[in-house]
Amino acid sequence: MRFLVVGAGGREHALCWSLAASPLVRELWCAPGSDAIAREATCVPLALDDLDGITAFCREQKIDLVMPGPELPLVLGLADRLQAAGIKVAGPSAAAAQLEGSKAFAKAFCARHGIPTAAARTFTWRERQAAEAYVQAQGAPIVVKADGLAAGKGVTVAADVRQALDALEQSFGGAFGSAGETVVIEECLRGEEASLFALVDGRNVLEFGTAQDHKAVGEGDRGANTGGMGAYAPAPCMTPALTERAMAEIVRPTVAGLAAEGTPYRGVLYAGLMLTEGGPKLLEYNVRLGDPEAQVQLVRLKTDLGQLLQGLVDGVLDHMDLRWYDDAALCVVMATRGYPGAYVNGSKIFGLDEAGRLDGVTVFHAATRLEQGQVVASGGRVLNVTAQAPSLREAQGRAYAAVDRIDWPDGFCRRDIGWRALGPPQR
Ligand code: AMP
Repeated sequence: MRFLVVGAGGREHALCWSLAASPLVRELWCAPGSDAIAREATCVPLALDDLDGITAFCREQKIDLVMPGPELPLVLGLADRLQAAGIKVAGPSAAAAQLEGSKAFAKAFCARHGIPTAAARTFTWRERQAAEAYVQAQGAPIVVKADGLAAGKGVTVAADVRQALDALEQSFGGAFGSAGETVVIEECLRGEEASLFALVDGRNVLEFGTAQDHKAVGEGDRGANTGGMGAYAPAPCMTPALTERAMAEIVRPTVAGLAAEGTPYRGVLYAGLMLTEGGPKLLEYNVRLGDPEAQVQLVRLKTDLGQLLQGLVDGVLDHMDLRWYDDAALCVVMATRGYPGAYVNGSKIFGLDEAGRLDGVTVFHAATRLEQGQVVASGGRVLNVTAQAPSLREAQGRAYAAVDRIDWPDGFCRRDIGWRALGPPQR
Protein backbone atom coordinates (compact mmCIF):
# COMPACT_ATOMS: atom_id res chain seq x y z
CA MET A 1 0.00 0.00 0.00
CA ARG A 2 0.94 3.60 -0.51
CA PHE A 3 0.66 5.74 2.61
CA LEU A 4 0.91 9.49 3.13
CA VAL A 5 1.49 11.02 6.56
CA VAL A 6 0.62 14.72 6.87
CA GLY A 7 2.77 16.84 9.20
CA ALA A 8 6.39 17.65 10.03
CA GLY A 9 6.95 17.30 13.77
CA GLY A 10 8.02 14.67 16.27
CA ARG A 11 4.63 12.95 16.20
CA GLU A 12 4.86 12.59 12.43
CA HIS A 13 8.46 11.40 12.68
CA ALA A 14 7.24 8.66 15.05
CA LEU A 15 4.32 7.82 12.73
CA CYS A 16 6.67 7.50 9.75
CA TRP A 17 9.18 5.47 11.81
CA SER A 18 6.38 3.09 12.78
CA LEU A 19 4.82 2.87 9.30
CA ALA A 20 8.20 2.40 7.60
CA ALA A 21 8.49 -0.87 9.53
CA SER A 22 5.08 -2.10 8.38
CA PRO A 23 5.11 -4.97 5.87
CA LEU A 24 1.89 -3.51 4.49
CA VAL A 25 3.45 -0.19 3.53
CA ARG A 26 5.20 -0.45 0.19
CA GLU A 27 5.72 3.27 -0.30
CA LEU A 28 5.62 5.99 2.32
CA TRP A 29 5.35 9.73 1.78
CA CYS A 30 5.17 12.62 4.21
CA ALA A 31 3.88 16.14 3.54
CA PRO A 32 5.74 18.33 4.23
CA GLY A 33 8.00 16.13 6.39
CA SER A 34 11.50 17.12 7.46
CA ASP A 35 15.14 16.16 6.93
CA ALA A 36 14.83 13.61 9.75
CA ILE A 37 11.57 12.19 8.38
CA ALA A 38 13.26 11.89 4.98
CA ARG A 39 15.15 8.88 6.36
CA GLU A 40 11.82 7.02 6.68
CA ALA A 41 9.64 8.54 3.96
CA THR A 42 9.78 10.55 0.76
CA CYS A 43 8.98 14.14 1.70
CA VAL A 44 6.67 16.27 -0.43
CA PRO A 45 6.81 20.05 -0.02
CA LEU A 46 3.09 20.66 0.61
CA ALA A 47 1.84 22.88 3.44
CA LEU A 48 -0.52 21.50 6.09
CA ASP A 49 -3.33 23.79 4.97
CA ASP A 50 -2.85 23.17 1.25
CA LEU A 51 -5.89 20.91 0.94
CA ASP A 52 -5.96 21.22 -2.87
CA GLY A 53 -2.29 20.35 -3.17
CA ILE A 54 -2.49 17.35 -0.83
CA THR A 55 -5.62 16.00 -2.54
CA ALA A 56 -4.08 16.42 -6.02
CA PHE A 57 -0.88 14.71 -4.87
CA CYS A 58 -2.84 11.75 -3.47
CA ARG A 59 -4.71 11.39 -6.77
CA GLU A 60 -1.58 11.55 -8.88
CA GLN A 61 0.36 9.13 -6.70
CA LYS A 62 -2.63 6.84 -6.14
CA ILE A 63 -2.20 7.04 -2.37
CA ASP A 64 -4.19 4.31 -0.61
CA LEU A 65 -4.30 5.79 2.88
CA VAL A 66 -3.66 9.21 4.42
CA MET A 67 -2.79 9.62 8.10
CA PRO A 68 -3.07 13.27 9.15
CA GLY A 69 -0.87 14.12 12.16
CA PRO A 70 -2.04 17.55 13.36
CA GLU A 71 -5.54 18.92 13.89
CA LEU A 72 -5.37 21.92 11.54
CA PRO A 73 -5.90 20.13 8.20
CA LEU A 74 -8.70 18.06 9.76
CA VAL A 75 -10.53 21.11 11.12
CA LEU A 76 -10.12 22.72 7.68
CA GLY A 77 -11.75 19.69 6.01
CA LEU A 78 -8.89 17.58 4.62
CA ALA A 79 -10.71 14.31 5.34
CA ASP A 80 -13.84 15.50 3.49
CA ARG A 81 -11.78 16.51 0.46
CA LEU A 82 -9.88 13.24 0.35
CA GLN A 83 -13.02 11.16 0.76
CA ALA A 84 -14.73 13.07 -2.02
CA ALA A 85 -11.75 12.14 -4.20
CA GLY A 86 -12.09 8.47 -3.21
CA ILE A 87 -8.98 8.43 -1.00
CA LYS A 88 -9.11 6.70 2.36
CA VAL A 89 -8.17 8.79 5.37
CA ALA A 90 -7.63 7.93 9.04
CA GLY A 91 -9.01 11.22 10.36
CA PRO A 92 -12.43 12.78 11.01
CA SER A 93 -14.54 15.03 8.80
CA ALA A 94 -14.55 18.77 9.49
CA ALA A 95 -17.95 18.35 11.14
CA ALA A 96 -16.64 15.76 13.62
CA ALA A 97 -13.31 17.60 14.04
CA GLN A 98 -15.25 20.45 15.63
CA LEU A 99 -14.83 18.45 18.83
CA GLU A 100 -11.35 19.99 18.87
CA GLY A 101 -11.88 22.96 16.56
CA SER A 102 -14.54 24.55 18.76
CA LYS A 103 -14.61 24.26 22.53
CA ALA A 104 -18.14 25.73 22.50
CA PHE A 105 -19.21 22.94 20.12
CA ALA A 106 -17.57 20.32 22.36
CA LYS A 107 -19.32 21.70 25.45
CA ALA A 108 -22.73 21.74 23.79
CA PHE A 109 -22.10 18.24 22.44
CA CYS A 110 -21.23 16.95 25.95
CA ALA A 111 -24.40 18.52 27.32
CA ARG A 112 -26.53 16.88 24.59
CA HIS A 113 -25.07 13.46 25.28
CA GLY A 114 -24.63 13.50 29.04
CA ILE A 115 -20.83 13.29 28.88
CA PRO A 116 -19.21 14.27 32.20
CA THR A 117 -17.23 17.50 31.91
CA ALA A 118 -16.72 20.79 33.79
CA ALA A 119 -19.85 22.96 34.08
CA ALA A 120 -19.50 25.80 31.59
CA ARG A 121 -21.11 28.75 29.83
CA THR A 122 -20.28 30.08 26.39
CA PHE A 123 -20.18 33.79 25.47
CA THR A 124 -19.50 35.63 22.21
CA TRP A 125 -17.67 38.97 22.15
CA ARG A 126 -21.06 40.68 21.85
CA GLU A 127 -21.86 39.28 25.30
CA ARG A 128 -18.72 40.60 26.90
CA GLN A 129 -20.50 42.24 29.82
CA ALA A 130 -22.45 39.10 30.58
CA ALA A 131 -19.18 37.12 30.45
CA GLU A 132 -17.54 39.48 32.93
CA ALA A 133 -20.57 39.34 35.21
CA TYR A 134 -20.48 35.54 35.04
CA VAL A 135 -16.81 35.47 36.08
CA GLN A 136 -17.57 37.84 38.98
CA ALA A 137 -20.52 35.75 40.09
CA GLN A 138 -18.66 32.43 39.89
CA GLY A 139 -15.46 33.66 41.53
CA ALA A 140 -12.05 31.99 41.24
CA PRO A 141 -10.45 29.64 40.48
CA ILE A 142 -12.10 29.59 37.09
CA VAL A 143 -11.02 28.60 33.58
CA VAL A 144 -11.31 30.80 30.49
CA LYS A 145 -10.89 29.18 27.06
CA ALA A 146 -10.80 30.69 23.60
CA ASP A 147 -13.25 28.73 21.45
CA GLY A 148 -11.10 27.95 18.43
CA LEU A 149 -7.61 26.61 17.70
CA ALA A 150 -5.08 28.80 19.48
CA ALA A 151 -1.90 26.68 19.32
CA GLY A 152 -2.31 25.57 22.93
CA LYS A 153 -2.29 29.15 24.20
CA GLY A 154 -6.03 29.79 24.46
CA VAL A 155 -6.62 28.35 27.96
CA THR A 156 -6.18 30.31 31.20
CA VAL A 157 -6.63 28.57 34.52
CA ALA A 158 -7.24 31.74 36.54
CA ALA A 159 -6.32 31.72 40.23
CA ASP A 160 -8.24 34.96 40.83
CA VAL A 161 -11.02 36.98 39.22
CA ARG A 162 -8.60 39.64 37.92
CA GLN A 163 -6.68 37.05 35.92
CA ALA A 164 -9.90 35.64 34.48
CA LEU A 165 -11.07 39.13 33.44
CA ASP A 166 -7.66 39.74 31.82
CA ALA A 167 -8.02 36.49 29.90
CA LEU A 168 -11.44 37.60 28.67
CA GLU A 169 -10.02 40.93 27.57
CA GLN A 170 -7.17 39.22 25.77
CA SER A 171 -9.45 36.81 23.95
CA PHE A 172 -12.14 39.34 23.01
CA GLY A 173 -9.39 41.87 22.19
CA GLY A 174 -8.13 39.67 19.37
CA ALA A 175 -5.07 37.96 20.89
CA PHE A 176 -6.15 34.68 19.28
CA GLY A 177 -7.77 36.17 16.18
CA SER A 178 -11.17 34.80 15.31
CA ALA A 179 -10.49 31.77 17.57
CA GLY A 180 -11.06 34.06 20.56
CA GLU A 181 -14.28 35.77 19.46
CA THR A 182 -16.18 33.23 21.50
CA VAL A 183 -15.05 32.01 24.92
CA VAL A 184 -16.00 29.13 27.16
CA ILE A 185 -15.87 29.90 30.87
CA GLU A 186 -15.77 26.80 32.99
CA GLU A 187 -15.55 25.37 36.43
CA CYS A 188 -12.01 24.58 37.57
CA LEU A 189 -11.66 20.84 38.10
CA ARG A 190 -9.20 19.29 40.52
CA GLY A 191 -7.40 15.99 40.21
CA GLU A 192 -4.73 14.26 38.19
CA GLU A 193 -4.73 14.69 34.41
CA ALA A 194 -4.40 11.79 32.02
CA SER A 195 -4.95 11.14 28.33
CA LEU A 196 -7.00 8.30 26.89
CA PHE A 197 -6.82 7.37 23.20
CA ALA A 198 -9.16 5.43 20.97
CA LEU A 199 -9.18 4.31 17.36
CA VAL A 200 -12.61 4.77 15.82
CA ASP A 201 -13.84 3.54 12.44
CA GLY A 202 -17.23 5.25 12.43
CA ARG A 203 -18.84 2.49 14.47
CA ASN A 204 -16.29 0.41 16.34
CA VAL A 205 -14.12 1.80 19.11
CA LEU A 206 -10.77 0.31 20.08
CA GLU A 207 -9.08 1.64 23.20
CA PHE A 208 -5.61 2.81 22.14
CA GLY A 209 -3.82 3.22 25.44
CA THR A 210 -3.20 5.96 27.97
CA ALA A 211 -0.47 8.52 28.59
CA GLN A 212 0.39 11.53 30.71
CA ASP A 213 2.29 14.62 29.68
CA HIS A 214 3.95 17.64 31.23
CA LYS A 215 2.77 20.90 29.71
CA ALA A 216 4.63 23.46 31.85
CA VAL A 217 8.12 24.55 30.81
CA GLY A 218 9.53 24.38 34.35
CA GLU A 219 10.29 21.53 36.72
CA GLY A 220 7.56 20.68 39.21
CA ASP A 221 5.09 21.63 36.43
CA ARG A 222 5.65 25.34 37.00
CA GLY A 223 6.03 28.20 34.56
CA ALA A 224 4.58 28.96 31.16
CA ASN A 225 2.52 26.43 29.24
CA THR A 226 4.10 24.73 26.23
CA GLY A 227 3.06 22.21 23.61
CA GLY A 228 4.42 19.54 26.00
CA MET A 229 7.86 19.01 27.58
CA GLY A 230 7.60 15.26 28.00
CA ALA A 231 5.25 12.30 28.26
CA TYR A 232 5.07 8.71 29.36
CA ALA A 233 2.88 5.71 28.70
CA PRO A 234 0.98 3.95 29.99
CA ALA A 235 -0.39 6.37 32.62
CA PRO A 236 -0.03 4.53 35.95
CA CYS A 237 -3.04 6.41 37.38
CA MET A 238 -5.28 5.00 34.64
CA THR A 239 -6.09 1.67 36.22
CA PRO A 240 -7.99 -0.82 34.05
CA ALA A 241 -11.17 0.04 36.01
CA LEU A 242 -10.76 3.80 35.50
CA THR A 243 -9.91 3.31 31.85
CA GLU A 244 -13.02 1.22 31.31
CA ARG A 245 -15.13 3.79 33.17
CA ALA A 246 -13.81 6.59 30.95
CA MET A 247 -14.41 4.49 27.85
CA ALA A 248 -17.98 3.76 28.99
CA GLU A 249 -18.89 7.26 30.20
CA ILE A 250 -16.93 9.45 27.79
CA VAL A 251 -15.40 7.81 24.70
CA ARG A 252 -18.13 5.42 23.59
CA PRO A 253 -20.98 7.93 24.19
CA THR A 254 -18.98 10.46 22.14
CA VAL A 255 -18.69 8.08 19.19
CA ALA A 256 -22.35 7.04 19.48
CA GLY A 257 -23.45 10.68 19.79
CA LEU A 258 -21.57 11.73 16.67
CA ALA A 259 -23.00 8.82 14.70
CA ALA A 260 -26.52 9.68 15.91
CA GLU A 261 -26.03 13.29 14.79
CA GLY A 262 -25.09 12.15 11.29
CA THR A 263 -21.38 12.96 11.60
CA PRO A 264 -19.75 9.60 12.37
CA TYR A 265 -16.19 9.73 13.66
CA ARG A 266 -13.29 8.09 11.90
CA GLY A 267 -9.77 8.49 13.22
CA VAL A 268 -7.91 8.80 16.50
CA LEU A 269 -9.99 10.24 19.31
CA TYR A 270 -8.01 11.65 22.22
CA ALA A 271 -9.83 12.43 25.45
CA GLY A 272 -7.97 14.73 27.86
CA LEU A 273 -9.28 13.73 31.28
CA MET A 274 -9.31 15.09 34.81
CA LEU A 275 -9.57 12.28 37.34
CA THR A 276 -11.80 14.03 39.87
CA GLU A 277 -13.20 12.65 43.11
CA GLY A 278 -16.46 12.22 41.25
CA GLY A 279 -14.81 10.14 38.50
CA PRO A 280 -13.15 10.96 35.19
CA LYS A 281 -14.33 14.16 33.50
CA LEU A 282 -13.52 15.40 30.03
CA LEU A 283 -11.17 18.42 29.87
CA GLU A 284 -10.90 18.49 26.11
CA TYR A 285 -11.20 16.45 22.97
CA ASN A 286 -8.42 16.18 20.42
CA VAL A 287 -9.06 14.67 17.02
CA ARG A 288 -5.58 13.19 16.49
CA LEU A 289 -2.68 11.65 18.37
CA GLY A 290 -0.86 13.74 20.95
CA ASP A 291 2.60 15.22 20.52
CA PRO A 292 4.73 13.98 22.37
CA GLU A 293 2.24 11.30 23.52
CA ALA A 294 2.31 9.58 20.12
CA GLN A 295 6.04 9.04 20.49
CA VAL A 296 5.65 7.04 23.72
CA GLN A 297 2.61 5.17 22.42
CA LEU A 298 4.13 4.14 19.11
CA VAL A 299 7.35 2.70 20.55
CA ARG A 300 5.12 0.45 22.74
CA LEU A 301 2.84 -0.64 19.90
CA LYS A 302 3.31 -4.30 18.98
CA THR A 303 0.51 -4.58 16.43
CA ASP A 304 1.45 -3.32 13.01
CA LEU A 305 0.36 0.32 12.69
CA GLY A 306 -0.23 0.00 8.94
CA GLN A 307 -2.66 -2.83 9.55
CA LEU A 308 -4.45 -0.95 12.32
CA LEU A 309 -4.93 2.11 10.15
CA GLN A 310 -6.16 -0.02 7.29
CA GLY A 311 -8.65 -1.67 9.67
CA LEU A 312 -9.74 1.80 10.74
CA VAL A 313 -10.42 3.15 7.25
CA ASP A 314 -12.10 -0.12 6.21
CA GLY A 315 -14.45 -0.10 9.20
CA VAL A 316 -13.29 -3.44 10.59
CA LEU A 317 -11.65 -2.43 13.88
CA ASP A 318 -13.88 -5.00 15.59
CA HIS A 319 -11.75 -7.67 13.92
CA MET A 320 -8.42 -6.17 14.91
CA ASP A 321 -6.25 -7.43 17.71
CA LEU A 322 -4.39 -4.63 19.45
CA ARG A 323 -1.24 -5.51 21.37
CA TRP A 324 1.38 -3.53 23.25
CA TYR A 325 4.83 -4.39 24.49
CA ASP A 326 4.91 -4.76 28.26
CA ASP A 327 7.55 -2.02 28.44
CA ALA A 328 6.85 1.47 29.72
CA ALA A 329 7.99 4.39 27.59
CA LEU A 330 9.05 7.92 28.47
CA CYS A 331 9.91 10.88 26.26
CA VAL A 332 11.95 13.93 27.22
CA VAL A 333 11.50 16.96 24.97
CA MET A 334 14.63 18.99 24.32
CA ALA A 335 13.85 22.58 23.39
CA THR A 336 15.80 25.62 22.23
CA ARG A 337 16.78 27.98 25.04
CA GLY A 338 14.16 30.71 25.34
CA TYR A 339 11.20 28.52 24.36
CA PRO A 340 8.24 29.03 24.83
CA GLY A 341 9.32 32.67 24.52
CA ALA A 342 11.63 34.05 21.84
CA TYR A 343 14.49 31.84 20.65
CA VAL A 344 16.99 31.69 17.80
CA ASN A 345 17.05 28.91 15.20
CA GLY A 346 20.15 27.31 13.74
CA SER A 347 22.13 26.10 16.76
CA LYS A 348 24.19 22.96 16.14
CA ILE A 349 23.32 19.63 17.77
CA PHE A 350 25.91 16.87 18.26
CA GLY A 351 25.85 13.39 19.73
CA LEU A 352 22.55 12.25 18.24
CA ASP A 353 23.93 9.01 16.81
CA GLU A 354 25.54 8.08 20.09
CA ALA A 355 22.31 8.82 21.99
CA GLY A 356 20.23 6.83 19.52
CA ARG A 357 22.48 3.76 19.89
CA LEU A 358 21.63 3.33 23.58
CA ASP A 359 19.49 0.33 24.39
CA GLY A 360 15.77 1.06 24.05
CA VAL A 361 16.29 4.66 22.89
CA THR A 362 14.81 6.34 19.83
CA VAL A 363 15.37 10.04 19.17
CA PHE A 364 12.55 11.59 17.18
CA HIS A 365 13.05 15.02 15.62
CA ALA A 366 10.36 17.63 16.17
CA ALA A 367 12.16 20.56 14.53
CA THR A 368 15.61 20.07 13.05
CA ARG A 369 17.11 20.48 9.62
CA LEU A 370 20.36 19.52 7.98
CA GLU A 371 22.80 22.28 7.06
CA GLN A 372 25.74 20.91 5.11
CA GLY A 373 25.34 17.59 6.82
CA GLN A 374 25.08 19.11 10.31
CA VAL A 375 21.85 18.80 12.34
CA VAL A 376 20.65 22.21 13.54
CA ALA A 377 17.61 23.27 15.55
CA SER A 378 14.75 24.82 13.58
CA GLY A 379 12.04 25.43 16.16
CA GLY A 380 11.10 25.62 19.82
CA ARG A 381 10.55 21.99 20.68
CA VAL A 382 13.34 20.23 18.80
CA LEU A 383 14.05 16.66 19.93
CA ASN A 384 11.93 13.94 21.51
CA VAL A 385 14.31 11.63 23.33
CA THR A 386 12.20 8.50 23.80
CA ALA A 387 13.11 5.38 25.76
CA GLN A 388 11.41 2.12 26.59
CA ALA A 389 12.24 -0.29 29.38
CA PRO A 390 10.58 -2.89 31.62
CA SER A 391 9.65 -0.21 34.18
CA LEU A 392 8.87 3.49 33.94
CA ARG A 393 11.80 4.29 36.23
CA GLU A 394 14.22 2.44 33.96
CA ALA A 395 12.72 4.14 30.91
CA GLN A 396 13.29 7.48 32.63
CA GLY A 397 16.90 6.52 33.37
CA ARG A 398 17.51 5.50 29.77
CA ALA A 399 15.92 8.65 28.37
CA TYR A 400 18.10 10.92 30.53
CA ALA A 401 21.21 8.84 29.76
CA ALA A 402 20.48 9.57 26.09
CA VAL A 403 19.82 13.26 26.81
CA ASP A 404 23.24 13.41 28.47
CA ARG A 405 24.89 12.08 25.30
CA ILE A 406 23.41 14.92 23.27
CA ASP A 407 25.75 17.86 23.01
CA TRP A 408 23.63 20.93 22.38
CA PRO A 409 24.66 24.01 24.38
CA ASP A 410 21.65 26.00 23.14
CA GLY A 411 19.13 23.36 24.20
CA PHE A 412 17.46 22.54 27.49
CA CYS A 413 15.03 20.05 28.95
CA ARG A 414 13.18 19.36 32.16
CA ARG A 415 14.99 16.82 34.36
CA ASP A 416 11.83 15.59 36.09
CA ILE A 417 9.67 14.06 33.35
CA GLY A 418 7.62 11.31 34.98
CA TRP A 419 7.72 12.81 38.49
CA ARG A 420 3.98 12.50 39.06
CA ALA A 421 4.36 8.75 38.75
CA LEU A 422 7.91 8.33 40.12
CA GLY A 423 8.40 11.21 42.53
CA PRO A 424 10.74 14.19 42.13
CA PRO A 425 14.28 13.51 40.84
CA GLN A 426 17.06 12.73 43.36
CA ARG A 427 19.76 15.38 43.10
P1 AMP B 1 -7.40 22.18 27.25
O1 AMP B 1 -6.71 22.68 26.02
O2 AMP B 1 -8.85 22.48 27.27
O3 AMP B 1 -7.07 20.76 27.61
O4 AMP B 1 -6.73 22.98 28.44
C1 AMP B 1 -5.33 22.99 28.62
C2 AMP B 1 -4.98 22.68 30.05
O5 AMP B 1 -5.66 23.57 30.94
C3 AMP B 1 -5.42 21.29 30.48
O6 AMP B 1 -4.49 20.33 30.13
C4 AMP B 1 -5.57 21.48 31.97
O7 AMP B 1 -4.30 21.40 32.63
C5 AMP B 1 -6.07 22.88 32.11
N1 AMP B 1 -7.55 22.91 32.20
C6 AMP B 1 -8.41 22.97 31.17
N2 AMP B 1 -9.67 22.95 31.60
C7 AMP B 1 -9.62 22.88 32.95
C8 AMP B 1 -10.60 22.83 33.99
N3 AMP B 1 -11.91 22.88 33.73
N4 AMP B 1 -10.18 22.73 35.26
C9 AMP B 1 -8.84 22.70 35.55
N5 AMP B 1 -7.87 22.75 34.62
C10 AMP B 1 -8.24 22.84 33.34
